[in-house]
Amino acid sequence: MMSITVLLVGITGSPRGDQAPIGYTDTPMQPDGRWHIHDGARPQPRLVKPGQPGIAIASSAPSDAIVLLGSGNDLSAWQAMDGSPAPWPMANGVLRTGKGLIRTKAEFSDFQLHVEFATPDEVKGDSQGRGNSGVFLLGKFEIQVLDSYENPTYPDGQAAAMYGQFPPLVNASRPPGEWQAYDIVFTAPRFTANGAFDKPAVVTVFHNGIVVHNATAFWGPTAHRRINPYTPDTAKGPLTLQDHGNPIRYRNVWIRRLGGYDES
Ligand code: MG
Repeated sequence: MMSITVLLVGITGSPRGDQAPIGYTDTPMQPDGRWHIHDGARPQPRLVKPGQPGIAIASSAPSDAIVLLGSGNDLSAWQAMDGSPAPWPMANGVLRTGKGLIRTKAEFSDFQLHVEFATPDEVKGDSQGRGNSGVFLLGKFEIQVLDSYENPTYPDGQAAAMYGQFPPLVNASRPPGEWQAYDIVFTAPRFTANGAFDKPAVVTVFHNGIVVHNATAFWGPTAHRRINPYTPDTAKGPLTLQDHGNPIRYRNVWIRRLGGYDES
């Protein structure tokens, strides 16, 4: 009797649908059939120590960038998801996560994006509960923000992951409290004139100067425990920053729209 019970639990997973011990075993297989979504058995990315001295001082944006967070306390590029003023506190050029997600007023499609962030100095929680936020490209494709310094979690959910899809090629995280950078080149998905899916979104990401995604296609918009299908509304959107209940700091965020050769 006991062995039957154990067998059933093994097949169906726990009633709450998690966690064994840092990932999921009851989620769908990813489209290439190699791993479950949020698979805790997937190999942890190799550690790479980024170059020193890092980015203790923020550089200014290039001259043709749209500055989303600059050296002042101007939050006018941002709003709450309901269109009201962005409710996150900002001081001395540093934005701190607050209640609810915030998004840019402007929408984008293809771009180069620079984001600097820092997870809390004081380490609290573990796995997905430590320093969680996220940068949602077009509001739909998450590059994960997490304290992944000596903090194992399911690899497709660690810092710089294409959340739920691909871990970073390596773990280039700096220690808690230190400023870190993502440099992201993003190509939006394409749809035909009648709205049929044509090409997926593609992203290249540098984490602290180290390439962690090399022109990798998203399987679809980000979701937890699943991957959503492409729909025509994923072709453009804002930049969205996630409130996951942890106090993350952001600064020096700028974006450059990208066109083709001879178009600018
Ligand atoms: Mg997140």
